[in-house]
Amino acid sequence: YRSKHAGRNIVTVFEETLQDEQSLTLEHELREGLSNGEITVYYQPQIHLSAGTITGVEALVRWQHPTRGLLSPGEFIQLAEECGLIVELGVIVLRMACQEMKLWERQGISYETVWVNLSPRQFQSPDLITSIQDVLRETGLSPTSLGLEITESLAMKNTDLIMNKLRQLRDLGVRIAIDDFGTGYSSLSYLQQFPINVIKVDKSFTRISSDDQNPRFIVTAILALARELNLRVIAEGMEHIEQIHWMRQEGCDYAQGYVVARPMTPEMLTKMHRELCDR
Ligand code: C2E
Ligand code: CA
Ligand code: CA
Ligand code: CA
Repeated sequence: YRSKHAGRNIVTVFEETLQDEQSLTLEHELREGLSNGEITVYYQPQIHLSAGTITGVEALVRWQHPTRGLLSPGEFIQLAEECGLIVELGVIVLRMACQEMKLWERQGISYETVWVNLSPRQFQSPDLITSIQDVLRETGLSPTSLGLEITESLAMKNTDLIMNKLRQLRDLGVRIAIDDFGTGYSSLSYLQQFPINVIKVDKSFTRISSDDQNPRFIVTAILALARELNLRVIAEGMEHIEQIHWMRQEGCDYAQGYVVARPMTPEMLTKMHRELCDR
């Protein structure tokens, strides 16, 4: 018994050490990657359902790793958040997104908004407002063309600190969206108090399932609430045309998802845009 017990401990300790080492390696590589220009941004269009036009784009970070290939945020965002590199990474993404938006403008392509995701640690960073101001000044992008997506779990914490920051952002003129809406267990009262413009209905509520009516009921309720509060609603994660039809029928005007377009490089998006216009 004793030896078995001891053996398990050794294995556990070994595995934990291995995990620590792996994340240390990745942290080191990310630090390198940030300064070596390995961060890129993909863009996923959002469309207006009746007009069929692209109204906005969401910036989604990618890491072009020298040996591991193109990495998705799921593979490094949490690590970046934990080791604090997220603040630096966030500014890089913000700058790239604003630059790209200006580039599109110069090419005669104008989207209402480029949306950038903010993680909780970024949002709480004391430098947030200054770095946004700096990037806007640097790139010459109008604040009204920039949108920031924050998650519901963060917005829910109705503290003075968060409220203050949201007000400062609103005063800058940038747009605010609540991401993954409906996944937090919040009271909805904050929606009325917070200076936000858009809610993005999480994909878990827009699935089409015949056996479970609940998600549909929730979406209908969210749309009614948004209408009352004069908020724009974007349906996220649309994978099937039936979902789009249904959301539209329920009164949702904006959608984003694989059925419309996958996240892509800015060059690919420019090409897609031109093709849409030529039709
Ligand atoms: P999110 O903000 O909810 O972004 C949407 C995610 O869903 C993206 O994954 C997108 O590629 C994916 N998606 C889009 N359409 C569909 C669809 O029809 N079906 C399905 N199943 N998925 C769809 P991605 O790019 O892997 O990003 C994952 C998450 O990583 C994002 O979720 C966001 O929370 C985070 N993230 C991405 N970029 C950044 C960033 O620059 N900064 C920070 N802090 N977080 C980021
Ligand atoms: Ca280096
Ligand atoms: Ca998002
Ligand atoms: Ca989302």
